[in-house]
Amino acid sequence: MRALFPFLAVLYSVILSNMSAEPPFSLNETPGKLPKEVVPTEYSIRIVPNIDKFTFTGTETVKLEVRSPVHQLVLNALELDVTEATLDGKPLPKSAAKIDKENELLTLTLPSELAPGDHTISLSFSGKINQQGQGLFYMRYQEHGSGATKVMLGTQFEATDARRFFPCWDEPVFRARFQLTAVVPENWLAVSNMPIESEKKIAEGKEVRFAATPPMSSYLNVFVAGELDLIEARSVSTQVRVIATKGKAELGRYALEATAQILQYYNDYFGVPYPLPKLDQIALPGGFGGAMENWGGITYYESALLFDPKNSSAETKQNIYEVIAHEVAHMWFGDLVTMAWWDNLWLNEGFASWMGTKCTAHFNPQWEVWLRRNLPRDPTRRIGIAKEQAMEGDARSTTHPIQQHIATEAEANSAFDDITYKKGQSFLRMLESFLGEDVFRNGIRRYIAAHKYSNTSTADLWNALSETSKKPVAEIAVGWTEQPGFPVVKVKRETGGRVRLTQERFTVNFKNAPPLQWKIPLTYAIIGEAPATLLMTGKTEILENIPADRALKLNVMGAGNYRVEYDEPPWILLLQALPKLGVEDRVNLLSDAWALVQADRASISLYFGLVEKLPASTEIAEREQIINVLDFINGLLAASPEQEKFQHYARSLLRPTFERVGWEPKQGEPATAANLRASLISALGDLNDLEIIAGCRERFKKYLANPASLAPDLRPAVFTVVCHYADEKTWTRLHQLGLKTTSIEEKQNYYNALACATDPKLVKKTLAIALTDQLPTSRATQLVPRVARDSGHPEIAWDFARSNMKALLAKVDAAGTNRYVPSLFTFFSDEPRANELKAYAKSNLSPASVTEVAKVVDEVQFRSEFKKRLVTHLNIWLDHHSDAASARE
Ligand SMILES: [Zn+2]
Repeated sequence: MRALFPFLAVLYSVILSNMSAEPPFSLNETPGKLPKEVVPTEYSIRIVPNIDKFTFTGTETVKLEVRSPVHQLVLNALELDVTEATLDGKPLPKSAAKIDKENELLTLTLPSELAPGDHTISLSFSGKINQQGQGLFYMRYQEHGSGATKVMLGTQFEATDARRFFPCWDEPVFRARFQLTAVVPENWLAVSNMPIESEKKIAEGKEVRFAATPPMSSYLNVFVAGELDLIEARSVSTQVRVIATKGKAELGRYALEATAQILQYYNDYFGVPYPLPKLDQIALPGGFGGAMENWGGITYYESALLFDPKNSSAETKQNIYEVIAHEVAHMWFGDLVTMAWWDNLWLNEGFASWMGTKCTAHFNPQWEVWLRRNLPRDPTRRIGIAKEQAMEGDARSTTHPIQQHIATEAEANSAFDDITYKKGQSFLRMLESFLGEDVFRNGIRRYIAAHKYSNTSTADLWNALSETSKKPVAEIAVGWTEQPGFPVVKVKRETGGRVRLTQERFTVNFKNAPPLQWKIPLTYAIIGEAPATLLMTGKTEILENIPADRALKLNVMGAGNYRVEYDEPPWILLLQALPKLGVEDRVNLLSDAWALVQADRASISLYFGLVEKLPASTEIAEREQIINVLDFINGLLAASPEQEKFQHYARSLLRPTFERVGWEPKQGEPATAANLRASLISALGDLNDLEIIAGCRERFKKYLANPASLAPDLRPAVFTVVCHYADEKTWTRLHQLGLKTTSIEEKQNYYNALACATDPKLVKKTLAIALTDQLPTSRATQLVPRVARDSGHPEIAWDFARSNMKALLAKVDAAGTNRYVPSLFTFFSDEPRANELKAYAKSNLSPASVTEVAKVVDEVQFRSEFKKRLVTHLNIWLDHHSDAASARE
């Protein structure tokens, strides 16, 4: 899954005093609530939706393998009424079926002991069609062209919502074949994991029967139906289709081509060809925010799949490619081979994130994805680099190991966080660069071949990689996946060409953190020479024969998941060598310097001193790192007396780059110039650059008369800046445009801009939209945290949310429930708000949100402390640099 949750996630600290690697996969040892005596092998399910009442009825027959004698059958069901049950063709009394709502279990008590062997149960049931993306859900949307309001259906089951659609063994280890039949209106197209086997007209419409899937986990089922169009192509032996609502399928052309390219790459990489006869890429106009890797039928939020060459931005295009590459990687890693239990979710998500980025970078090196990793400006405008996001969270007291204990369904939903996705990805990248690309790929091939159509634990992956690399992978990995946090390596020059390296735990806002140690796959280079590797296994390590006058850089290309803190002499040598460093190494130095400032290991002068020494460049990853830091500081200083002086300085740092990039695209400029231009306009606009603001207003005016006059790449930035400083008339104009368009991407551009209005009266008007059905439910509710961040008025957003909480939470999906309230507090920077969140959570939120609350409390406390420290250091720095800044500006 690639949910675009705006705001980060779960945490609890577990201190592992005695780490031991987990054992390889075995069914009996796999955690979970369901007993392992009975396993399903084949489901045959028939569903009849009622589109007027948003309910459905269903029947199913499940073939079971009973492994040892049982007196009852225990499976999952949620918000379903079970009306009839039979065992081996004999009806069970009505009282035999009991639903335990709290544990989401259905228990069938049997009249007598059931002997080991093959058995069959049949169930009749009914359920509801949800408004939010949970189980079977409906989406209302405006049809392209006609503008008519239409309804369609979709499903979202990961992590634990297949049980809302049909009673099932809804834990990933219970793989089975699923054969779905559904009844839909005659003019609808119905899609599921497998191709349609037969279709017939019946009284209620048409009955569509899909072929049975190979053995797979229940959460990978999919059913989508509506008035849909499609385009198709073949990639080797696979039929690839892009499916969208009527009138939009042609916008899937780019996705179709990208999918064909990506499929071939993975067929080769994994060494096992894509195993299903078809792969559908399905665009949904609502329901959920990200994408979901249902086997053979991947669902995407529309703007993550459809690309309109006339109106979509370069950012959108890159995002589409990356999301597809991530989801298609899951067809093998996640679907063909599945983690046994949610404590190994990182295997799915860390791997798909790493593989997707690797594949994207392979075909599109110009996008600098390893450095930028396009979670566009959507989730948070803080540090945009994936590795950096994970490291920020992992440095705090609220972090957790990649592999975490998962006991309940709510915890499974909370597991989709930055640590799971991004630290996982980052660790795999470090491991790949340490073992070598070919050795690593051979290990993955061995793993897939050995475990296809089965489940695994992390140990199975390490075993495969150890066998191909002949290196103790499990021993290296254990510190990174089973304990929280990561190290900083301190670099100190000694006499005689010796360099002393010392490791310790790196933390931010975390006093008395338990000390931990890692086996670090280090890389280092004397600038201008070939890099070398070293497995650092102890607390200290000495490098010999490093010339005293040559710069030494650790963590080559920033591929490692650790920080480096240089002593003054080696740092000065590095600053002198900056022009000789590549962009990856410069971004790595910037990221580490900023992290050291946050950790109170250095003053802000370390960071700005480095920024000022950088050679002039328009390399996007480097400039965006700086933009993100300036944006973070600007947000932290909101309404403080230092803000104006800081903005003046910040503009002086960004202006020279903007002068080079300019407003208008230049012939032959790199593909990323458009992204950089947009980032600079939006950043300078926020920093109160009068010329940029005037330029945006002028372009907006022209756009109103002639939309083609404004390049799609610039639209989000221009709308945002215009609305940031908007009066009511301008706000209303943008709102009207948002109401009118049927393009999800354009709609999002307009509403995102509305969230940036700073006039309190307009802030309230924007918030009120969250309660209407102008936006798909997931986007409507996310408008509130977005306003909290972008308006500079988190207090108005929180007051609004508190008064309307019930209506808002009714629209939030399973994955988002625990995060929603905490996400509204993330942008406060005063301690009393941290206490307010704690108090509110205690009396209003479920215990499942406790980790998320702790995380945001920590964030608010950090911001409060950091703000005080930053103001002091910033004043000193700006007093010495404002003259220079004026000269530059
Ligand atoms: Zn995923």
